[in-house]
Amino acid sequence: MNIYKYLWFFGNKPKDGTMTLLPSNKKVFVKSNQSILNAALEQGLDWPHDCKFGSCSSCMGKVLKGKIKPTSDYSQVLTKEEIDDGYFLACQARPVMDCEIEVDLGDLVRVPAIKNNALISETEMLTSDIMRVVLQTDQNVEHAGLPGMWAELSIDGLDRPRSYSYAAAPKNEKPNEFTFFIRKVPGGKFTEWLFGSNRDMSQQVTVNGPFGSFYLREKQSPIVCIAGGSGLAPIKALLEGGVLDQVKRDVVFLFGARTQEDLYCVKEIKELKDKWNKDYKFDFIPVLNMEPEDSDWKGGRGLVTDYFENEIIKKDNLDVSDWQGYLCGPPPMIDAACVVLEKHGIKSDEIFYDKFTDSRDL
Ligand SMILES: Cc1cc2nc3c(=O)[nH]c(=O)nc-3n(C[C@H](O)[C@H](O)[C@H](O)COP(=O)(O)OP(=O)(O)OC[C@H]3O[C@@H](n4cnc5c(N)ncnc54)[C@H](O)[C@@H]3O)c2cc1C
Repeated sequence: MNIYKYLWFFGNKPKDGTMTLLPSNKKVFVKSNQSILNAALEQGLDWPHDCKFGSCSSCMGKVLKGKIKPTSDYSQVLTKEEIDDGYFLACQARPVMDCEIEVDLGDLVRVPAIKNNALISETEMLTSDIMRVVLQTDQNVEHAGLPGMWAELSIDGLDRPRSYSYAAAPKNEKPNEFTFFIRKVPGGKFTEWLFGSNRDMSQQVTVNGPFGSFYLREKQSPIVCIAGGSGLAPIKALLEGGVLDQVKRDVVFLFGARTQEDLYCVKEIKELKDKWNKDYKFDFIPVLNMEPEDSDWKGGRGLVTDYFENEIIKKDNLDVSDWQGYLCGPPPMIDAACVVLEKHGIKSDEIFYDKFTDSRDL
């Protein structure tokens, strides 16, 4: 690190400050110990963002007046010229004083986030590596998010919070509970603790949310949902929302898993199908890519994205160009699904997804 960067990085001490955002002229009060992005999101503003840990540049803003303090060296993500011009990553910056910031806020639905302390009250292994985790708060809480959104979970000593999608529509949760589907990631700090046999039951977990822009948009056209692994959580929540609102849309829902052992919540999804608006179709198709050839499995096989292309679009000669796509799961599955959907005419701004990124993507 050169001396300039040293001064830039270590020079100022964070202090509470009010950010005036231009051109919207909205104001955000930021405490010295929180990132500018988190403060904006907690106050319900649609500040564009994606990863929230400094590896993308979606939350970039520009300081017009005042000073901020970077909390990491984001010269890997922004160019020297951008940094010199006052650009910064809002997820990696704290205020030093009141500032004027240039940022184009979006018009997505954002819900002010609330922090709740909770204890793990219930766990259930859904597959060999995915667990249903119920977190219970000591008093009733507001479930204010939209189905499909996610929360940040943290425990003492964890380097940063981890993101997990709510696995139920807010209206279907008990007033003092949050449910998540969490996959064990070998070597992962949070999930190794969570799945550990000697986990301290009195360990408090902070649930901060809701966040994200994964929710059902208003439109009449059919939707394709594609979930992989624990990516079922937000898709299930979103479809539960569709049932509660009795939306008037056809659905094709493909659930990708390795083998029959890795399928879960099939009964719950069939119940959603039964409760879906009767005038509209709900096709649920589990697709397995590592199921032994000689097993009794009669359902879909192969990669879930190939299945959608070959067995649904091509076989039925379907025009899906006015459909919307809702995708959730591991980043390679999302990337592959976007390619297929766009190839068949679905516009990129009609495809919505949450990639379940982790520290490997930092
Ligand atoms: C919006 C969003 C929603 C999500 N929702 C869900 C959900 O509903 N369910 C779910 O299961 N997951 C979800 N995820 C993923 C989740 O947030 C975590 O990333 C995941 O659980 C891993 O956390 P961890 O602390 O166990 O692993 P981490 O500590 O983050 O480590 C992950 C892996 O990376 C390796 N690693 C760590 N540091 C490095 C490094 N520097 N270089 C290379 N490798 C490294 C570790 O050994 C490990 O294998 C979501 C992610 C996002 C962004």
